[in-house]
Amino acid sequence: MSTSKKPATIAAHAAGATDPQSGGVVPALQPSTTFMRDAEYQPLRADNTYSRADSDNLRQAEEVLRQLEGAADTLLFPSGMAAIAAVFRTIPNGGKAIVQSGIYWGTTAWIRDFCVRRAITLFEVDADDLVSTCQNQPADIVFIETPSNPWLRSVDIQAVADASDSTLVVDATAATPILTQALDHGADIVMHSATKGINGHSDVLAGVLSTRHNDATIWRIVHDDRKMAGAILGPFEAWLLTRAMRTLPLRVERMSQNALALANHLFAHPKVEDVFYPGLPHHPGHDIAQRQMKGGYGSLLSVLVTGSREDALHVVGRLQLFLRATSLGGVESLVEHRHTIEPHTGIPENLIRVSVGIEAIEDLITDWDQALG
Ligand SMILES: *Cc1c(COP(=O)(O)O)cnc(C)c1O
Repeated sequence: MSTSKKPATIAAHAAGATDPQSGGVVPALQPSTTFMRDAEYQPLRADNTYSRADSDNLRQAEEVLRQLEGAADTLLFPSGMAAIAAVFRTIPNGGKAIVQSGIYWGTTAWIRDFCVRRAITLFEVDADDLVSTCQNQPADIVFIETPSNPWLRSVDIQAVADASDSTLVVDATAATPILTQALDHGADIVMHSATKGINGHSDVLAGVLSTRHNDATIWRIVHDDRKMAGAILGPFEAWLLTRAMRTLPLRVERMSQNALALANHLFAHPKVEDVFYPGLPHHPGHDIAQRQMKGGYGSLLSVLVTGSREDALHVVGRLQLFLRATSLGGVESLVEHRHTIEPHTGIPENLIRVSVGIEAIEDLITDWDQALG
């Protein structure tokens, strides 16, 4: 299934999507919800009947992602959370799930609630204890996130895969398929919020699942349920995503360079207490990240400024280039005072989460220096 072409080539050519009908070098946008049959009542195109099932634009975007992941099959969803929910809905009532703790808060909050409603036993486990828990505890699904958001913890995907017979699902949003191909490291299903780095322009909400085996029971359920329950991405969003992914490898390369340079600069700054970034040698999990991420460590980092909540908010307020907004992986740099958004999750009050964009690194560093100064 996997292709021999390199990611930059797959992405730039949108995995070969053009428009044969007009001769256009980019695919046409086809928003039709329904598709015609001929006089003998045969579909004009057997693979197009109704757009809740599938559409050309959706398949084009999925094919790019499938090739980038080296996957057997790929499905797009209307958000990252819809993709996560699709996987968890396959767990039978009364089943078991092992979920890494300290991950994206939206995931934790939804899973907790869902598991209560469905009488699913939920084990929330620290990144360092995943392997031992998986060895001793059978489960329907093991769900991990690496690097994690906003703590930037790294989890050895292969070690967890080896420790467990369960279906291993990896949220690799902060890595993107460019830096980590989770299926190659033993994941059964890899998930991304495509809203983040994959789309990268802060203008499409989407989620994606890719599988190593498309005949797995769990995948058949996910596949059929997307169509029947209707959690599908629209053609226009899929078309925008295909367009945006042409530059994904370039964006990820620049963001990772910028993020590493900024992380190093801030870590050496007297007004900074610590920087969480998998690319920094002192960061726990740096060795795992070195083995598991290739070509960079991503755009996401967290900065602990010296002092109190007020000091952190003061710095955030003084930044001029970094926009104060949630989300990550866009071409524009963003900052977020995480404690203001989720005070109940044990996040340090002096933590500023940073998503580093593709701007000139000199400008980004100058902005932080004046804000800390
Ligand atoms: C944003 C995010 C999600 C949720 O994705 P949405 O597209 O916002 O639904 C899940 N996991 C991680 C790591 C994220 O950053």
